Amino acid sequence: MSNLYDVTIIGGGPVGLFTAFYSGLRSLKTKIIDAEPAVGGKISYFYPEKIIRDIGGIPAIAGHELVKNLHEQAKTFQPTIQCGERITELFKLPDGTFQIISETGKEHYSKTVIIAAGSGTYEANPLEASGSETFADQIFYDIKNIARFQDKTVIVSGGGNSAIDWAQTLEPFVKEVHLIYRGENFKGHEERVKELHDSSVYVHVNHEITALQGNLDELTTCVIHCNKDGNTSRLSADAILVNHGVKVNLGSMLDWGFETSDYGITVNQEMETTIPGIFACGDIANYPRKMRIIAAGLHEGPIALNSAKNYLDPSADEVAMVSTHHESFDKI
Ligand SMILES: Cc1cc2nc3c(=O)[nH]c(=O)nc-3n(C[C@H](O)[C@H](O)[C@H](O)COP(=O)(O)OP(=O)(O)OC[C@H]3O[C@@H](n4cnc5c(N)ncnc54)[C@H](O)[C@@H]3O)c2cc1C
Repeated sequence: MSNLYDVTIIGGGPVGLFTAFYSGLRSLKTKIIDAEPAVGGKISYFYPEKIIRDIGGIPAIAGHELVKNLHEQAKTFQPTIQCGERITELFKLPDGTFQIISETGKEHYSKTVIIAAGSGTYEANPLEASGSETFADQIFYDIKNIARFQDKTVIVSGGGNSAIDWAQTLEPFVKEVHLIYRGENFKGHEERVKELHDSSVYVHVNHEITALQGNLDELTTCVIHCNKDGNTSRLSADAILVNHGVKVNLGSMLDWGFETSDYGITVNQEMETTIPGIFACGDIANYPRKMRIIAAGLHEGPIALNSAKNYLDPSADEVAMVSTHHESFDKI
């Protein structure tokens, strides 16, 4: 079967991409499938412009740069990368081959499967305020291109780490940034909250956006309501950035037959799920003291891949040769 792969990785986020690179190091025929139109997972979806600072050896890197690097590295051994396909079904056929089916009915076949599906596919919780439909073009749920906010007045709504991150990321570029939070105490990291209060971001706690107003479909004003004293205020606004969390949708994945826990897939230290031949890594994999950060997933991916290699060939080495001494790089 020419379309039979050694390894199929469901999820082209940072962890799926690096796992595909490592799969190439181990000479396995590899395919990545992702539901989104492009690779990059949460980084591309939520924070392409944010600066990431907690990956060893990389003091600071913008999200989109990291994705570009991971994508380039993933392509080293020319895996098949299939985007825009959400996988909804997975079956183990009588001969042990896995049949992977997308919501459009497209079938993929693989000897092993690595699930690097993060938290599933995403849908941002919408802003519920009057006028939201009229000014939909000026409401954003992520920032793909920070330049479009240059010299604008931007209202960020939300109280978690990402709302704080966005307010601070925008601060140097925009005319004014306001952060609106319906609670009193921000849920973000203490240090970031302190930085926020020390910055020029206008912070409005105990407030919610209740209405958007403007000329025809051009937004000019954001109406906010104080849930403590009942007062209403009006802020000039060119754009609204909403960070009210996302609905993540693992779809049918948790019914594919393996053990699950805490909205993820239970794995052992080999990154094996409870179905032989299926492995998991990255945010979706659960084990004691799990850390849902990029650096942790970049470690788990190669473990999952080495386990897949040994599942296919029990006599194979347990790990790949380190890349510097790897024969593949003599040919590249
Ligand atoms: C706002 C925010 C800021 C963050 N900042 C940092 C930070 O500074 N440093 C850090 O280390 N971590 C950070 N993280 C966490 C980091 O993004 C995750 O740990 C990392 O993205 C996990 O990578 P992953 O590849 O496992 O999953 P994801 O990035 O979630 O990628 C999973 C991919 O799987 C795809 N997928 C899901 N289900 C299916 C399906 N059924 N079929 C096909 N494809 C599917 C999705 O489309 C997605 O592309 C942050 C997270 C958020 C939300």
